[in-house]
Parts: sequence; C-alpha cells; structure tokens
Amino acid sequence: MAEPIVLIIGKPNVGKSTLFNRIIREKKSIVLDFPGVTRDHVYGEARWGERAFTLVDTCGIFENPEGIIERQQKQVVLSSVKEASLVLFVIDGREGITSEDIHVVEFLRKAGVEIVFVANKIESYEKYERNILPELYEIGFGEPIPVSAEHNKNIDELIDTILERLEQQGIDTTLREENDDEIVKVAIIGKPNAGKSSLFNKITGLKKAIVSDIPGTTRDIVDEIVEFDGKKYKFIDTAGMRKKSTVEYGTVEMYSIVRTIKAIERADVVIIVVDSTEGITHQDQKVAGLAENKGKATIVAFNKWDLVKNQSIKKKEYEEYFEKEFYYIKYSPAIYTSAERGWGIEELIDSIDIVNKSRNRRIPTSALNAALERYLMVSPPPVKKGKRIKFYYATQVDVKPPVFTFYSNQPENIPKTYAQSLRNMIRKYIDPFVGTPLFIKFAERKK
Ligand code: GDP
Ligand code: GDP
Repeated sequence: MAEPIVLIIGKPNVGKSTLFNRIIREKKSIVLDFPGVTRDHVYGEARWGERAFTLVDTCGIFENPEGIIERQQKQVVLSSVKEASLVLFVIDGREGITSEDIHVVEFLRKAGVEIVFVANKIESYEKYERNILPELYEIGFGEPIPVSAEHNKNIDELIDTILERLEQQGIDTTLREENDDEIVKVAIIGKPNAGKSSLFNKITGLKKAIVSDIPGTTRDIVDEIVEFDGKKYKFIDTAGMRKKSTVEYGTVEMYSIVRTIKAIERADVVIIVVDSTEGITHQDQKVAGLAENKGKATIVAFNKWDLVKNQSIKKKEYEEYFEKEFYYIKYSPAIYTSAERGWGIEELIDSIDIVNKSRNRRIPTSALNAALERYLMVSPPPVKKGKRIKFYYATQVDVKPPVFTFYSNQPENIPKTYAQSLRNMIRKYIDPFVGTPLFIKFAERKK
C-alpha cells in the first residue's frame, strides 16, 4: 500500500463514492467495519504509473448534521483529517455551495489541512462556469477542479493535481513495493495501552539488537530494521512506538484503523498484543480475522502477565479462552509476556522465526498425497448429487501462505467443513504449520 493518505470529504450525495471508485479504478477497496466507526469507511489504493497514494472515502460522515453521533464522529474525523496528507473536498458543481457544504467548509478550515477543491457532476462546463464558478471562489479554497466522476471527465487532471500537491509538501508518492524478501516483516498490533511500545522497546533493547530507522514515505511512518544474531526483522510503522506521545482513549481513530490494516497488509507476521488485565477485545478478534484472511502468520502476546494473579490457574483459563475467542487462529502460538519484567521476550522473537518458517514451508507432493490417501480411508468425503466426492491427488501450489490445490471430480460441491477438515489433516498428518493460515483450493479433474 502506498503511504500518503488522501481523504474524500463532502456532504452526502455529491458523488464521493463514485469518485472514489473512479480514482482507484475498481481495484480492491476495503470496508472498514471496525467497532466504534458507526459508518463504513472505505479505502483503496490509487496507482498512477510508478506513483500511488491511499484513498479513503469517509462516506456518510456528514449526514444528520445536528445529531450527537455526528458530533462524536466529527471528533473522530477531525483527528484523522489532521493526519491526512490531503483532503479532497467535493461539492455538487451543479448546485453550487449549500448550507450543508458550509458546514463541511467550516470543519475543514478548523482542521487546517491541505485541500484540493473538487466540483463534481460537471458535464456541462459552460453552464457551470457562468452560473456557479464565481461564487465558489468566495470559499477561499481557490478554483475548484471540475470533474464528472460518473462520466469520467477530467479525472486524470484531478489525479495529477493530487500527486502534485502531495509532492509539493515533500511527500514521496513513489509506489513502494516490498522487495526485501529475505527480511521478515513484523507488525505489532493491539489496542492503545496494551503495551505495544513497551514490547517493542524491550525487543530492541535486547543485548545484540542492532536497530536502524528506515524513514517511510511520509514523515510519520517509520519502519525499523532490527538485527538479532545476523537475522534481520523489519518492524512496520514503529513511529510512536519508540517514544510515547499522548494516547487517545475511548475513540477509535479512523486513521489508526487505516494504519492498522495497512500494517497488516505489509507484514509477514502479525503480533496481536492483548492486555491480559482486560482480555481479548472485539477489535483484537477483527485484527486476527483480517490477518488470517490475508494469509499472514500470527502470534498472540498476552501482555501485562505480571499483573495477573494466580498465574498458573489463569494460564489454563487463558488457554481455553484463547481457543474459544481466537478459534480461527488457534494454530498460533500464545505467549505470556510482561514488557515490564521482560518475560516472554525471547520466546516472542523465537516465535517470529517459527511462524515465518511455517508460512514459507513447502510440502513435497509425495508426502501430501500419502497423507491424503490415509485420510480418505478414515474420513471418506460425502456423497453429493448422488455421487461420492472423490479426490485424486493434491499439490502445494504456493507459499506465504501455503496454498494447496486438491483435484476432485466435483470441486464445486465440496462442503466448507470438508475443506476445514483437509486443513486439519495437513496440520495433523504432515506438519502443524504453527502460526500460519493454510489456503485450500479445489480444481476439477475428470477421471
Ligand atoms: P456520495 O453520497 O457523496 O458518496 O455520492 P454517490 O457517489 O453515492 O453519488 C450520489 C449520486 O450522484 C448517484 O446517483 C451518482 O450516480 C450521482 N453522481 C455521481 N457522480 C456524478 C457525476 O459526475 N455526474 C452526475 N450527473 N451524477 C453523478
Ligand atoms: P501501547 O499504547 O500499546 O504502545 O502501550 P504502552 O507500551 O505505551 O503501554 C501502556 C502502559 O502499560 C504503560 O504505562 C506501560 O508501562 C504499561 N505496560 C506495558 N506493558 C506492561 C506489562 O507487561 N506489565 C505492566 N505491569 N505494565 C505494562
């Protein structure tokens, strides 16, 4: 994912989501349905040759302008807006500025952020130029860029302007491909105050760690490479983890969610830090699900373990709790850490290696098929549409994460539960693949 973040803001119905889709050109977009964000936010990557930025559609943030929710959300958006590199302020260029727009304008002025002013729905420039444009200057955001998101007019110019304005601020928009394949990329994720910074500081404080900063493409995104015993690890987006500024409680900042997802996407290994005094939160579960879904290895660190009373009894309870609340990543190591006392830090680092190796492991086709044959005898596949499902053979087609293709007479009829049991088969008969998800695919082979 590209680093600079560009937000689309405007009142409802001006064409924000149409514009969003136009700019990212139907590429993947992700709906941010994290708790605390009551409306969906959507983000995606806009690429333009070798340059790129991340685009976020703030969607319905300015609906019901007088309500309490709006005021709360305004707080959330306000904090995220301040951290965005650029805001696209979008209006409906056919109707000009309305009182609802003024609302947004005041909000943006207060935020003091870089703005690109966009007048959408301009299919007829002449009419717009004559009737609407003059009054738009009065807002003080300069001359808007007229576009038609729906009819794909002037979108290239808009993207050029966005890139130009980012670069004027000294922001590097070069598309950043991760090509340092030999370095394990690690993201430390968890709710505020779970102890991420403290753990990271403990990790880098280990005797032999050599640390170097790699400035990212924006001022505030910093990766750091840590070296232990000649092995390199890149810790992703560690800005704010070295020194702690203020932590915001109670609100979920949209920016930090975008940031979390981006960090997960870039990582090989995701360490989910849980505050043991509070337990696994809904958001921890979402993070785990997202990591699993994206094929990332995961480790769970139950931190602040020093604050837990009756530790041996609690550990048993936590093991069960872990299996229940994190059942979809129950293949992951759970480590009981105390950043305060230095407990579990070495184990944490060892686990990074273990899960990363799992994620890169290749199983020989012969071993896979021997296991499959055995398994089919004990657990024959079900009958579907009057025919028994048959598996002829299987092969591992990819790593990071491991992907297995099973060839079958009825690939489309295989129940989800059976796919899960094949996954379990691999873990049980061949290799536990500690910490990594396994992807299973089915393909047709006619007998
Ligand atoms: P949002 O609420 O700001 O995200 O707005 P949408 O993207 O959902 O668009 C609202 C309506 O405006 C939809 O009916 C769109 O089809 C329409 N619309 C979006 N862009 C344009 C445009 O460039 N020209 C015209 N005429 N209609 C548009
Ligand atoms: P972050 O917001 O996730 O980066 O959390 P911090 O690392 O800033 O930690 C939040 C607070 O919890 C700080 O006051 C830390 O000193 C404290 N803390 C972090 N880890 C531990 C731990 O393992 N045990 C105890 N007792 N306190 C911890």
